[in-house]
Amino acid sequence: MIISIVNQKGGVGKTVTAVNLTACLADLGKSVLLVDLDPQANVTSGLGIKKEASIYEALSGQASLDEIIIKRPASNFWLAPSSQALAGANIELVSNPQREFFLKKLLDLVRTNYDFIIIDSPPSLGLLTLNTLVAADKILIPVQAEYYALEGLGQLLNTINLVRESLKPSLDILGAVITMYDSRSRLSEEVWRELYKHFPSKIFRTIIPRNIRLAEAPSFGKTILEYAPKSRGAKAYHRLAREILALEI
Ligand code: ATP
Ligand code: MG
Repeated sequence: MIISIVNQKGGVGKTVTAVNLTACLADLGKSVLLVDLDPQANVTSGLGIKKEASIYEALSGQASLDEIIIKRPASNFWLAPSSQALAGANIELVSNPQREFFLKKLLDLVRTNYDFIIIDSPPSLGLLTLNTLVAADKILIPVQAEYYALEGLGQLLNTINLVRESLKPSLDILGAVITMYDSRSRLSEEVWRELYKHFPSKIFRTIIPRNIRLAEAPSFGKTILEYAPKSRGAKAYHRLAREILALEI
């Protein structure tokens, strides 16, 4: 199962979700490859990885995917790191007629080695994000618990529909997950109504709270399970992982 974490809106919790959902699925006994497809390389630096060959080398044919994948200390957890060089891939791939299929081709070679492949996407609907949509079986959309964060969801859903029509008919939405929820400010009914309009029956019951431990963990190169396993953030991502496993996909 390949799950791409997508939202063109910046700072909604894509990277925190990618890292910690991967850690929790691995903790629950699944073998998981986490792919960092964002030139910002926040997943990669947040896991304490510095200079390594990256997914850019694999996409541009200078290395095989197996050569760039790093095993994390936690069991069942592998990482395909990113680097700033990936920003160039946008331009290099654009004239190639197969430009949307590069990541899919790479991942199809290794997908049977893992129970899950989780992909972190950049905050845009550009070529790299299109590659993650085409490579994915399912899309997970983190939505920040604020009204303005819903702006642009229509555009995202349009893009997903276009990809379905022209590039990947089987692409499916796994669901939307609410992130950075602050229990002191009740999520307004308006936000719920708007979300349900976009994702009828596809909103996860698990809500990720705003939790400082989740924001701190990357500066120690750790996942939330390594940094603060008893925190509310760790518990929430564990719950999300179990909810995804219970979907029997
Ligand atoms: P970008 O679009 O730039 O890639 P993103 O969607 O990947 O951003 P993150 O990097 O995961 O978003 O999160 C944005 C910021 O919010 C980060 O500083 C992160 O540490 C913080 N953050 C994310 N989720 C939480 C949370 N549940 N509680 C507290 N802080 C959070
Ligand atoms: Mg990110």
